[in-house]
Amino acid sequence: MKSVLSIQSHVSHGYVGGRAAIFPLQCQGWEVDSINTVNFSNHTGYGSVRGSSINEGDLVDIFKGLNDIQVSYDAVITGYIPNASLIAVINENIKSLKLNNNNLMYLLDPVMGDQGFLYVDESCIDEYKKILEDRIVDIITPNQFELELLVGFKVKTESDLKDAINHLHSKFNIKYVVISSLTDIKKSSEDLIYCAISTIDDNKIQIFSIPVINSYFTGVGDLFSALLLDKLYENLQSNEVKTPNLSKAVSQVLTIMLKTLSLTHKLGIESYCKDKNLTTLNGEMPVSKVNDDVM
Ligand code: PLP
Repeated sequence: MKSVLSIQSHVSHGYVGGRAAIFPLQCQGWEVDSINTVNFSNHTGYGSVRGSSINEGDLVDIFKGLNDIQVSYDAVITGYIPNASLIAVINENIKSLKLNNNNLMYLLDPVMGDQGFLYVDESCIDEYKKILEDRIVDIITPNQFELELLVGFKVKTESDLKDAINHLHSKFNIKYVVISSLTDIKKSSEDLIYCAISTIDDNKIQIFSIPVINSYFTGVGDLFSALLLDKLYENLQSNEVKTPNLSKAVSQVLTIMLKTLSLTHKLGIESYCKDKNLTTLNGEMPVSKVNDDVM
């Protein structure tokens, strides 16, 4: 059975981090071991959050424990890690796991923030760059803001995008680069966001456009990365030449994402309307009456 070590956040309420990634991976047939980088009440976007991060000593101990029982993995996926010292411990341990299995596939989602807003400690930026310098990452899935933090320049044009992606391939030997959401490059439509992909030996960038669903979702990036790991891995298993087709994998993932988000949106509206005794109109939120005055 294919096995993965998932290193991400845990929240009691809602779906981000491990709560958004583990169940979908299990549904795709993965045996998932998980390390919780934080144990929070909820996602940081609620305005209030309680709980704690794992401390460095406990994290070191968990890796030692896993090493003592000699577990090995086909893949590792990392997501939300709140500070630089934890990133450093995780990096050292993934290097050892790679030494034991040089086919181990490592997907790094450098979760740091979005749209100009950081939700981890600032020191994480340099620590992620150190991981990249170790050249152990196979797949990276930053959003536009995270890409800019890693390469050190703004990505405003297609030429900036090309430079940024080439930087990740050539300087850090990352085979698969997937920019999970790009907002500044093409402003042709407000109803679309873009996803840019590139493979190291194939000198071209492909861009997917994704219809925007007007709603608020969490954990989208975490689900995206988990499914991408699965699809690329599956691709590798069935491919004689050992070069997974990134474009096919991303297209499969985006199709699943669109279905999942549409269904989540629909069920959310239905449940809200049921609670408030409202009737939905074609699955959309009814416009509520403000007052009884007739103008
Ligand atoms: N808070 C926590 C604890 C997370 O794990 C994550 C993402 O993994 C976020 C916030 C950011 O989530 P989103 O990208 O859905 O805003």
